[in-house]
Amino acid sequence: MTCSGKGDLAVAVDLGGTKMSVALVRSDGRIVSQRRCLTNSDEGAKAVLGRLLLIISDMLSRVKSTKSELAGIAVACAGVIDMNKGIVTESPNLPGFSRIRLRDIIAHEFGVTCYVINDASAAALGEYEFGAGARGRVENLIYLTVSTGIGGGMIIRGQLYLGSDGSAGEIGHMIIKADGPLCKCGRRGCLESLAAGWAVARDAVECLKKGEESSILQLAGGKIEHVTAAVVSAAAKQGDILAQKVIRSAAGYLGIGLANIINVFNPQLVVIGGGLAKMGNLLLEPACKVAEALAFSLPGKSVRVVRARFIANAGILGAAAYVFSQLRGGVKG
Ligand SMILES: [Zn+2]
Repeated sequence: MTCSGKGDLAVAVDLGGTKMSVALVRSDGRIVSQRRCLTNSDEGAKAVLGRLLLIISDMLSRVKSTKSELAGIAVACAGVIDMNKGIVTESPNLPGFSRIRLRDIIAHEFGVTCYVINDASAAALGEYEFGAGARGRVENLIYLTVSTGIGGGMIIRGQLYLGSDGSAGEIGHMIIKADGPLCKCGRRGCLESLAAGWAVARDAVECLKKGEESSILQLAGGKIEHVTAAVVSAAAKQGDILAQKVIRSAAGYLGIGLANIINVFNPQLVVIGGGLAKMGNLLLEPACKVAEALAFSLPGKSVRVVRARFIANAGILGAAAYVFSQLRGGVKG
């Protein structure tokens, strides 16, 4: 049996390929308590699930005396989620997470209503409720996380749009270049394979292997396997020509993706979060220029592209917002 309180407190979890984080969040977006640990996803689904249950159990023990305050648990998870059934159907960054009935496992373990939501959809809701969306003053918002991978979430007419099964928003796997590089999803030329963190690192490594001049390798401690998007970004900021070229290329493809999003959705606001958003204008300015040149003029003129307010806690706040939205009568799919 599961119980869902009418309370002002949600347990929100962000389960990513690298880190997992759990927090107690009030309905006004205030984080009361938070814990983080490494996912160690290479240890497989069983080990990750064990760690996840442990970290939730620890957080729940802090609210035992006020359990009636608890509105529910929501897990923001990387991957394609069947929200109707609470199943993680596939997750390229969580090996072994295939057909995992995450909602039922957690609800059964703790006797509390649980929801599972895609992490980027959650982040869209978090920015809409508490961040760049100015607490609902924007009606149509598209959120894009540009990080190791690329994900997205859509708020349409003030509602999180989830599609028929809850899997909508896979903006990172929008195909931009039919004969482009192989993506982690197994297809070719996805936006993620051209502009995500791993694509930036791959392009830099390919150029370095060809012997192109650059300070990137030195910044990576002389080890090519330590070249990441963050290292390329640092080199670019120091004026490294190769690093700037690689980021300009990623920005160009990101701009094509943005133009497609602007033409399809005609949003008021596109919010860009994720680790690569920290590159700031190095990435966003050229991407916006390309988007401006390619988008139709009517939707292109009315849209604003801004950096996300939350980088680390967008998924957590969005998961909590989802719990409270269910109390208010649910989110339309
Ligand atoms: Zn893909």
